Amino acid sequence: MQLLYRAKSGERVAALFEDLSEVIMRLVAILMNIAPYGVFALLATLFTTVSIETFGNLIIYFLVVFFVLIGHALITYPLILKLLTGLNPFIFLKKMRDAAIFAFSTASSNATIPVTLETATRKMGVKNSIASFTVPLGATINMDGTAIMQGVATVFIAQVFSQDLTLADYVTVVLTATLASIGTAGVPGVGLIMLAMVLQQVGLPVEGIALIIGVDRLLDMTRTAVNVTGDSMVGIIVAKSEGQFDNDMYLDAEAGNKIEEIDFHHLKD
Ligand code: ASP
Repeated sequence: MQLLYRAKSGERVAALFEDLSEVIMRLVAILMNIAPYGVFALLATLFTTVSIETFGNLIIYFLVVFFVLIGHALITYPLILKLLTGLNPFIFLKKMRDAAIFAFSTASSNATIPVTLETATRKMGVKNSIASFTVPLGATINMDGTAIMQGVATVFIAQVFSQDLTLADYVTVVLTATLASIGTAGVPGVGLIMLAMVLQQVGLPVEGIALIIGVDRLLDMTRTAVNVTGDSMVGIIVAKSEGQFDNDMYLDAEAGNKIEEIDFHHLKD
């Protein structure tokens, strides 16, 4: 009887969370439907207030951030991996594909945690004891892509507002962008909100963010893919240094792609 009562109360709690999740999903759906009109309105004001020259600059800003992000993922990470672990970086990049695509389409490091964990533990050979710590931690504080965007965006906004940055300002930008990226939540668009902190540190108007908001979505998707790639790379380095790394799994191109056979026979007994 008591057991029955417990099960029921547990069910009620579960039902409450299910209801809450449904309400939140509904709110998100409403927001997603309204968002295009909001962005249209933002861009409309932008089109009427800034010159055509600024748009040319905006395209250059976009391209600079985009290519630096790609360079960071394809050059910096593989290089660090090779130097610190001696592993073949091409295998790493190939195995990162699914997680990077998932991160790109969701623009959220947090939403990608299950895929990053799966990639790290079943494809790359990082033991679960390490991955279950480094991956969620990385998705929360390790955001190189976001820091890159914030640095370039600050310089871009300073140029639009014709404000000269001194060497000390550049150092401040580097430091605060690193701090702001650590404070950025792993959900879409937060990097842009945290950019306000960097701008304030060097005396730039926060309104400058409106200039880049229109092109930020695609950059957000790209930097999230870079962020999760960094998390996996750090996971491998830590696992290797702790002796918690399966080298054979890393070298096995098919690792993680095989269908697992689960033996249910013992359940019959
Ligand atoms: N969307 C990014 C992430 O989840 C954070 C950001 O830069 O806005 O990694």
